[in-house]
Amino acid sequence: MTTIDIMSLYPKDMNIYGDSGNVLTVTRRLALYGYEPCVTAYNQGDDWPDHVDMILGGGGQDTGQKKIIDDFFRRADLLRTLAADGTPMLMICGLYQLFGEYFETVDGTRLDGIGVIGAYTVGQDVRMIGNLVEHSDDFGDVIGYENHSGQTFLRDGVRPLGRVDAEGRGNNGEDHTEGARVHNVIGTYMHGSLLPKNPKIADFLIRTAVERRYGAFEPERYQTDDQRTALAALDRAADQARRVAASRPR
Ligand code: GLN
Repeated sequence: MTTIDIMSLYPKDMNIYGDSGNVLTVTRRLALYGYEPCVTAYNQGDDWPDHVDMILGGGGQDTGQKKIIDDFFRRADLLRTLAADGTPMLMICGLYQLFGEYFETVDGTRLDGIGVIGAYTVGQDVRMIGNLVEHSDDFGDVIGYENHSGQTFLRDGVRPLGRVDAEGRGNNGEDHTEGARVHNVIGTYMHGSLLPKNPKIADFLIRTAVERRYGAFEPERYQTDDQRTALAALDRAADQARRVAASRPR
């Protein structure tokens, strides 16, 4: 069997608005491609596993971010090295902010980030909330649900995940960017969960993880007809969910 080791990062404290659905989606799709997903949850104080092919992190309240921050810094060098090495990662909202340089919360607390993404975040009183469509060069239209007080500003030259048409939405409500892409790390405000509605992103994470570990992504070698049919049904469900979310901006 061709195993892929997935880490769910801080699921106890950083997992809101359905972010754990991203782990379920990657797990299910990998299995339907004929690979064997193996998921490890990493929370504060846990041992780091021997091998990691992909890391998925979710959002959290400001309080959840404060809870994990010390442990997060103990793992910062490791995470920076894995990111620089090309490990595919998806960081939603609260962890997206902490993969940046810092997050200054609305009450004035400053949480340093690990600086994988050249971006900084400042809390504001107005929350940005609602279903959102963004246009991404890599993944076409990305559809998700944002809910954050932090305004994130990308440093010059940092590539956003996509661009939003709507006013007052996305990274900071001002520059029409959303999310960021650095190496194979995707940071984004999109909850929802993101991946069930955006299989192209799920497949990017999967393909990258498999190619890095095994040299080639070859579902045709492992996948059965039943698995192919089940995957097509998942993609049809994703299309329907995308249509509904896109038609309801709030
Ligand atoms: N606490 C952060 C904010 O409000 C992140 C929220 C989230 O992860 N949804 O900006």
